This record gives sequence, C-alpha cells and structure tokens, in this order.
Amino acid sequence: MATATLSIDLDAIAANWRALDRLSDPSTQTGAVVKADAYGLGSKRVARALAEAGARRFFVAVAEEGAAVRQALGPGPQINVLGGHMPGDTEMIQDLDLTPMLNSVDQITRHLESLPGHPFGIQLDTGMNRLGLEAPEWEAVAPLVLEQGPELVMSHLACADEPDHPMNAAQLAEFHAMTDGIGVPRSLAATGGILLGPDYHFELTRPGVGLYGGRPFVASHPVVGLSLPIIQVREVEAGEIVGYSCGYIADQPRLIATIAAGYADGLTRRYSNAATLWDGETPVPIVGRVSMDLITADISHLQQIPRALDILGPMQGVDDLADVAGTIGYEVLTSLGHRYARRYVSAATRGQM
Ligand SMILES: *Cc1c(COP(=O)(O)O)cnc(C)c1O
Repeated sequence: MATATLSIDLDAIAANWRALDRLSDPSTQTGAVVKADAYGLGSKRVARALAEAGARRFFVAVAEEGAAVRQALGPGPQINVLGGHMPGDTEMIQDLDLTPMLNSVDQITRHLESLPGHPFGIQLDTGMNRLGLEAPEWEAVAPLVLEQGPELVMSHLACADEPDHPMNAAQLAEFHAMTDGIGVPRSLAATGGILLGPDYHFELTRPGVGLYGGRPFVASHPVVGLSLPIIQVREVEAGEIVGYSCGYIADQPRLIATIAAGYADGLTRRYSNAATLWDGETPVPIVGRVSMDLITADISHLQQIPRALDILGPMQGVDDLADVAGTIGYEVLTSLGHRYARRYVSAATRGQM
C-alpha cells in the first residue's frame, strides 16, 4: 500500500517570500516566520529554501525550534525566539546564538543578568494583550534597555487580516508613541500587516502564513499537495450503511472507496459528509464519518478507479479546506500529521525526502 503523500513546493515558498518582500520598500527587510516546524511543513527544509531566496532573519516560537533552524542554516542568519528568554533556555540561547524577543521585565532581568552582551530584541504590547511589555513598563525600563542596544523592537497586530478594523490604526499609533525616536530597527507587520501598506512596514516585516500559501495573502502560490491512496473499493446496496455510527446510508447502489488517512493525520472529523476529495478536476464527496486512519468517499461517478484522491492540490487549497471545518488555513497546515511521506519539490532537488 502506498502511503499518503504530502508534497511541499519549496520553490513556491521562495516565490511567496520574494513576492511579500516586493510589497515593501527595498529599505525594509523581510524576515520569515518558521515557528511550529514552518507551519507543519518542515522547518529545516523550509528555512534553507528561504535562506537561499535571501531571508536573513527567522522567527520561531520557542528555543527548541530555534535549535532545529540553527542546525539547518549554520551560523550567520539571525534566529529570533518569539517566546523570549524562558527559564532553562539560557544555555541553548547562548550556544546556538538565538536572539530572544524579551517580553516582560522578568525576562529582561533574566537575560541581562545571565547573558550580558548577548543579542536580544524587545516585544511590546500595543493592544493585543498577549505578549510584550505594556506602555508604563516599557517607559520604566526603556532607558536601561536601549543602552544595551537591542537588535529589534517589535509588536504584533491583532486584527491585520481585517484591513478596515480600527484596531490596526490604534495599534500603529500606540507603536509610534512607544517607539518613535529610539533609533532601533522596528517591526510590526506579519502577513496581514504587510498587506495594510507601507505605514505598517517599518524596518522589518515578519510574514508567516503568506509564505505557505494561506490567506490573507490571496496572491500567494499554492505550496502544499496532499494525495491519499485508495486501499479498497466496494459496492454498497441501497439502504446499506458506511462507517461509524451509520454516518452514511446509501440512497441507491454506490461505489465506495476507502482511503488511507484520517483524523490522526490531521484530517478532522468535521470533514465527515462535508469535505470533497478530487480525482484530477472531478470532485469526489467524502461520505460517512472520518475515522482515525480511514476516510470513505463516493466514487460511483468516476469512469476509472484512481490510485489516489487529492484533498489538497490545485482544486482545493488550505483555506478552502479550513472553510469546511470552520477554522483557518493556519490550523489545517499545522495539523498535518507525521505519517505522510513528505516530498519536497524544487527545481534543485526534485523529489528528495
Ligand atoms: C505567527 C506570528 C507571525 C507570523 O504571522 P502570519 O500571520 O502567519 O504572517 C509574526 N509575528 C508574530 C509575533 C507571530 O506570532
């Protein structure tokens, strides 16, 4: 039995990075967010492809992720840790030359005491209320912190995927109020912020999802394909059931294909009787419940039994699938399981694992 295959187009990721880079002024640097194993696609391969495209500043969520990226990239590129400097991370931050984005007075103290002179950045809270120093805290520590020469001062937008949301302008104003005149490179924009225009770009942008073909960067090149092999095909009579809980009852004789992937592979049960698979350009409905390792689909209308059906590909992207499940492309990507054979596609290394 062939295994389900996740194909990841590294050239498309590089093209998306260049396209996002072109959306800001040449004086603005474009970073790359590769947290959560590059949104589930493999941070080592992805980081290398992005470095080749020209990215020099990478962002991960936690120090362990930074270790994998450093291993892939070698010395040189800056690897920023969004979670900052956590207790127990000091050695890794030092040994692997990671740059923590300090987000509290506690973290600033920890960093300056344990690794004096080691590069760091600062994260400010401009209204999202998730991570970072708030204005009064920043005001209190800014003179001391700025003396130490931070690499970057950054904040994050809560509603950048909604261009008309008043939060965007409010956070922009707060960021200016907190940072104007500090003489340190600044960063406010992720993918959504880049699309809001030059006011939001500052010295560095930090795209993530747009690199991987997700909204709100609708002009992105598709990056992932997911092809699921058919294990078995059977005829069911009218009135027969398919799968757990009699999730589907045939209204007429049907040809049912059983497919080798399920919710343990990140294909949520919400796709039960709802999502579509594709045989080339022909839609094939999922019928019955998605189970842990198997999905059933009605292929009665196909002329030939294909070897596999696609759930992600040219006919259906991560956001289309996310819409079916009532979630976002980010979650579809980061849910993709570990059982898939991963095929990285690029002009240089076509087909390598
Ligand atoms: C995840 C994240 C990003 C990237 O966001 P996208 O919407 O995926 O572009 C940038 N900055 C911070 C702080 C993040 O947490």
